[in-house]
Amino acid sequence: MLDAFPASPAMVSDPKRWVSLRDDHIKIDKEKMEINEIQAKRILQKSGLPDTNYVINPYIGCVHGCAYCYARFIKRFTGHTEAWGSFLDAKINAPALLKKQLEKRKEPLKEVVLISSVTDPYLPAESKYKLTRAILEVLLEYQVPISILTKSDMVVRDLDLLRQFKKCTVGLSLMTINNELAHRFEPRAPSPTRRTKALRKLRENEIYTYAFISPYLPHLSDIERLMETLNGLINEIGVEALNTRGANWVGVEQILTQFYPEFLSGYKQLSKDDGYWSTLEDKTRHLTAQLNISFMGLYRH
Ligand code: SF4
Repeated sequence: MLDAFPASPAMVSDPKRWVSLRDDHIKIDKEKMEINEIQAKRILQKSGLPDTNYVINPYIGCVHGCAYCYARFIKRFTGHTEAWGSFLDAKINAPALLKKQLEKRKEPLKEVVLISSVTDPYLPAESKYKLTRAILEVLLEYQVPISILTKSDMVVRDLDLLRQFKKCTVGLSLMTINNELAHRFEPRAPSPTRRTKALRKLRENEIYTYAFISPYLPHLSDIERLMETLNGLINEIGVEALNTRGANWVGVEQILTQFYPEFLSGYKQLSKDDGYWSTLEDKTRHLTAQLNISFMGLYRH
């Protein structure tokens, strides 16, 4: 089953119901795009991610609707059956709940909190709800160290807060710097151009920045071009290999079939090829050393 797309264009009985946001092939039913306001039970949560102890997700769902998104698994735990990218829950009690959680602690929280892991903290709805901003205000009050990871340049809106943290890193997630390619895989996320501009602005404001090359797509993501563009904009970089398990692969396969059929054969195998990733890791290590950028490493699934 395709999570983020209508099963077939033939299903579209009334074209006005469908919003083609920046491209024809990925469409979301406007009538089904809802924002539910919900009361969360917990907001600061323990994380199972490597090098991350705590995580905050102000929203459930993500309207960026990336074809490769692994976060769609949360549908299983939240009762959502809609297409990934077509629903959003806003945890409207998140700032108050966070304050309560932090107040209850015996010791101040000194471990880094990641914002966010299974949504983007700067979705368009953030302009209205300002949940991420209110969460940052609470975290700032307690000087909790933070790491933000987003695909949106809206993060610069909160520069005034970010600058006041003693420990704050901001990462922009990118799989390419090619806007057209990005748009095919990340139909409603801000373009790589906007993301790199955001990195520049963050750096100008002395925020510690990183790029998370996620996912790296064989034949399509281009590490040399990425490094060339990111040079001077980031302190650190990490690379995540494409995850081809389950529904993550379905969306990628569809886009490869439509736009890059020459790469399709053997693509899944290549994505699991140890030699391919180890060569990429070596190349990235070499490039980062030349440019004096820290290399977090290459993450595989
Ligand atoms: S921005 Fe991140 S969480 Fe949102 S759809 Fe894309 S990969 Fe998934």
